[in-house]
Amino acid sequence: MDPLKALTDAERKPYWLDSPAKPEPQARLFGNTGADLAVVGGGFSGLWTALMAKERDPSLDVVLLEGRRIGWAASGRNGGFAMATLTHGIANGLERWPEEISTLEHMGLRNLDEIGETVARYGIDCGYERTGELHVATEPWQLEEMHESSQIARELGVRLDMMDAAQVRAEVDSPTYVGGMWERDGCAMLDPARLAWGLRQACLDLGVRIHERTPVRAMRDTPAGLDLLTPYGSVRAARVALGTGVFPPLLRRLRHFLVPVYDYVLMTEPLSAGQLASVGWHNRQGVGDSANQFHYYRLTEDNRILWGGYDAVYYNGGKIKPEYEQRDATFVKLAEHFFATFPQLSDLRFTHRWGGVIDTCSRFSAFYGTSHGGRLAYAAGYTGMGVGATRFGANVMLDLLSGERTERTELRMVKEKPIPFPPEPVRSAGIQMTRWSIAQADLNQGRRNLWLRTLDRMGLGFDS
Ligand SMILES: Cc1cc2nc3c(=O)[nH]c(=O)nc-3n(C[C@H](O)[C@H](O)[C@H](O)COP(=O)(O)OP(=O)(O)OC[C@H]3O[C@@H](n4cnc5c(N)ncnc54)[C@H](O)[C@@H]3O)c2cc1C
Repeated sequence: MDPLKALTDAERKPYWLDSPAKPEPQARLFGNTGADLAVVGGGFSGLWTALMAKERDPSLDVVLLEGRRIGWAASGRNGGFAMATLTHGIANGLERWPEEISTLEHMGLRNLDEIGETVARYGIDCGYERTGELHVATEPWQLEEMHESSQIARELGVRLDMMDAAQVRAEVDSPTYVGGMWERDGCAMLDPARLAWGLRQACLDLGVRIHERTPVRAMRDTPAGLDLLTPYGSVRAARVALGTGVFPPLLRRLRHFLVPVYDYVLMTEPLSAGQLASVGWHNRQGVGDSANQFHYYRLTEDNRILWGGYDAVYYNGGKIKPEYEQRDATFVKLAEHFFATFPQLSDLRFTHRWGGVIDTCSRFSAFYGTSHGGRLAYAAGYTGMGVGATRFGANVMLDLLSGERTERTELRMVKEKPIPFPPEPVRSAGIQMTRWSIAQADLNQGRRNLWLRTLDRMGLGFDS
């Protein structure tokens, strides 16, 4: 079908958040209160932190403050790939923390196991399926990189099965595939908004006080704790955890490490039995292709296809604006790529189109830290892979706030910070140069130009 026609009726809102399961908001904070722990941000980072704080110590008084609605931002509008990796993939982790990569891979798998256990324990109905991820190659050079990753994984005792074109097409049938690799344990599919709402309910059931539509405007240090100032009240907290993602941080120093990058997604109508049979997909894996500019796609519970990625857009100046959540040129490009991948679905239409903002940092995986004499902890910079890793980051924040040394706080990955981005306007110029170079590399059998090779040597990068 003509991509424009397929998009005609697509609503301009995130599919997952457009659901009857969306709960009524919790009341705003009015007046002044105190808490042992105040969590700022009601995405996955904040929700996991509040929940696990109560699980660790049920007597702790925990309050969570969310500026808008629980899960409205990245956490409720993503692809729903909950990945085990804590390092934005094994290759990035190996490059940066070679002596820790085995530990990090196994910690990531345990974190994903524990997400599954939590979902089961609280009866969270979020369509959780541990189906793994199929990494597909559409060009031979991508297969070479896959062979390397699968070799490394084998040495670390992690399962990454290489597949030839016929084997991949027997799983998910596209004429564009030349081979692939199935990461069987490393990924679960879920409905991210229903996970966020389920975590919210679990927090409430354990006694966390949640206030929505309560932005924290400022923070003040006092001898008795940190005061969080909101439009109609305040919280005096002994400890504070920041799970504010890419939004203007309460801690100024974080600004140097984060840039907002927009990622875009389409959702199709449900496939008929015949349409689904034409693709196969019996094992319902998440799928990611393997160029530098990659697509990710998956089935929903009612057999729609979510199709996202490719363009990772940085708007010069680095602002976050509602109008950036829609980008027609990208939607048309995504629709064209969808029909090129699945020509057998040429009469399928899209029902939703949306975008969301990602907290990109230069090392692609989250960074952690404390301030205010250890009374505040933060975790941010998940760079498009935070559905699973935010739970690990939440545990790191709680460990740091406890002041205890744990297997997590002792990691070099946790102790080190990413290289900061330069200030504007150099920041915008550098990022656009990098985006252009990445697109060129994909056109050039993956060959990286001098600019990308220089950034690689410096440990600096741009990704989504
Ligand atoms: C389109 C898209 C697709 C993605 N796909 C995937 C995927 O398939 N797999 C994956 O692993 N990752 C994916 N990601 C990334 C993933 O969604 C994020 O890494 C993760 O949700 C980050 O969670 P968070 O809680 O840190 O941030 P957010 O979800 O952004 O939450 C931060 C919250 O803090 C609140 N806040 C900020 N400042 C304040 C303040 N001062 N006072 C009160 N509240 C405040 C905000 O309102 C917001 O609700 C995707 C992201 C996008 C945008």
